[in-house]
Amino acid sequence: MILDRLIGIFSVDMGIDLGTCNTLVAVRGQGIVLNEPSVVAVKKGTNQVLKNGQAVGWVAKEMLGKTPGSITAIRPLKDGVISDFEITEAMLSYFIRKVSGKSWIFHPRVVISIPSGITAVEKRAVFDSAERAGARRTYLLEEPIAAAIGAGLPFGEATASMIVDIGGGTTEVAIMSLGDIATCESVRVAGDDLDEAIIAHMRRSYNLMIGEQTAERVKIEIGSAAQVEDETSMDVRGRDMISGLPRKTSITSTEVREALQEPLNAIIETVTRTLERVEPELAADLVENGIMLAGGGALLRGLPVVLQKATGLDVRLAEDPLTCVARGTAIYLENIEEWRDTLESDMDL
Ligand code: ADP
Ligand code: MG
Repeated sequence: MILDRLIGIFSVDMGIDLGTCNTLVAVRGQGIVLNEPSVVAVKKGTNQVLKNGQAVGWVAKEMLGKTPGSITAIRPLKDGVISDFEITEAMLSYFIRKVSGKSWIFHPRVVISIPSGITAVEKRAVFDSAERAGARRTYLLEEPIAAAIGAGLPFGEATASMIVDIGGGTTEVAIMSLGDIATCESVRVAGDDLDEAIIAHMRRSYNLMIGEQTAERVKIEIGSAAQVEDETSMDVRGRDMISGLPRKTSITSTEVREALQEPLNAIIETVTRTLERVEPELAADLVENGIMLAGGGALLRGLPVVLQKATGLDVRLAEDPLTCVARGTAIYLENIEEWRDTLESDMDL
């Protein structure tokens, strides 16, 4: 144990949020040191990663939707499940190596937050990838717990905490008490589905095909879940479905909100369903403690208000929701000796 601590001083121990959209790495004392899209460019039809693994993250995201015939950019965790183990491994090891650099003296300890919905086989694959990428020890931490730690919730105490983490591919809803998850639900409806709803709306109402990146921009710039004071509009560019030619059109924030209704309702229903299943004593705690929102999807304007209305509970947005999970993994790493026994986070395959 003491030796382990000593080695820890000389190695770049890191906490990793392996997200469906973004992967973040936090290092003790340094905060977030890496924040890149979970995207890998591969040769089309193969899982051969381009340029010796250099086409990962930002470089690869820029290729999404714009790749020439022989290359495709892939999001290997898109739907919260690992669609391709080899590509996920290539991505994870690229990020781990990038952070530890060439200068490491000892191999790092790595805490990886994984969606709670993934299977034992997928967990094993993530674990093995980290070990192969040079981790000295690897710990897996369930994402809702990492989010709760990052948001500063009293998840270890005898009171209920509730976290709703809305990412790109999945929304995870969990109610925790005494360091353990009492009830949780993971659905594959999240930020990506909002983008898709905008794409479908543009196609249906304007005969305009737009790309995923454009749709995401529309969502972030003028999207909302509840009525906002200053309703606005913006220009959207794409390809006309009838003439086949490039064209732009203007859309309003009101129609974007209407387009988002269906996936938003699915997210809200997941939250209320989880609440309906919780023990009465924990439900009583939540009346006091409310709900904490994390993940990039939680940044949609008006979402806290809508969830507050649907549940009758207090809803707060975590500080910097996009980095909440990564910061949680780093805090977990700092307290690992103390917390390991209370949290069922280790490899229990
Ligand atoms: P994951 O953990 O699955 O990687 P993140 O927590 O990184 O996901 O969140 C990514 C999602 O958050 C994407 O769908 C992105 O479009 C969305 N997002 C980021 N910023 C905003 C914003 N300001 N408003 C609405 N959605 C946002
Ligand atoms: Mg996430």
